[in-house]
Amino acid sequence: MKLQALQTMTASLKSTKKMPVLFLGHGSPMNAIEENEFVQGFRKIGKEIPRPSAILCVSAHWETKGTFVTAMENPKTIHDFGGFPKALFDVQYPAPGSPEIAITTKALIKKTDVGLDNTWGLDHGAWSVVKHLYPKADVPIIQMSLDYSQHPQFHYDLAKELKPLRDKGVLIIGSGNMVHNLGMIEFRKFNESYGYDWALEAREKMKQFIVHDDHQSLIDYTKQGKAFQLSIPSPEHYLPLLYVLALKEKNEAISFFNDKPVAGSLTMTSVKIDKG
Ligand code: ZN
Repeated sequence: MKLQALQTMTASLKSTKKMPVLFLGHGSPMNAIEENEFVQGFRKIGKEIPRPSAILCVSAHWETKGTFVTAMENPKTIHDFGGFPKALFDVQYPAPGSPEIAITTKALIKKTDVGLDNTWGLDHGAWSVVKHLYPKADVPIIQMSLDYSQHPQFHYDLAKELKPLRDKGVLIIGSGNMVHNLGMIEFRKFNESYGYDWALEAREKMKQFIVHDDHQSLIDYTKQGKAFQLSIPSPEHYLPLLYVLALKEKNEAISFFNDKPVAGSLTMTSVKIDKG
């Protein structure tokens, strides 16, 4: 498709009030089927915000070389984990895709050539949380992948190019965990709100940077000392946060929810950005 045709397509989407942006701490896949305070937090936020015409989700669990968006009509539910009960593998989230939003997203992004993907679907980073916001699976959803070969600044700059989607009724969600060190999980404390000192320190510092709009310090997370190193041993669960922050306008409000540590080395801290 020619660029001009793509631009016409973006313009043809109905304009709406600016949609909020969400970062959702997804934690254990079991949150998909358990009843707990985090699930209640997701449900509450789904009721609070305007109903989107579509969702674009950047999930920690889809890493690729290059950036892709899912472009199929009916994305499959991917059970990308092992060692969980059958009930979790039985979950289906049959929300439709949106080839239209996928093509529009490709047209918007100039920083890289975004590929249209027809093989992925919805991984648990997307469906395990979105199912609580929209249990009827009736909001079309696409995923955008994380290019593992790129540095944090690239992700942040690329995300800025998604801004026009907010005015077209699209809810952009980053799904990961700000503090996420699976190697150091304290399994005996999985059902308690417990965080190691370094996890609590990183959580607090991250929140301070977020409320002060100090995005550069968050982009430069590798320079923020030991607590950050332990909290972000690999970038994939952290990077979706940068996508969300990049979409914040100056006068918008930030609120936190599900702001708790679990199992020592994870935080469920989630963020909503909107006009307040
Ligand atoms: Zn995850």
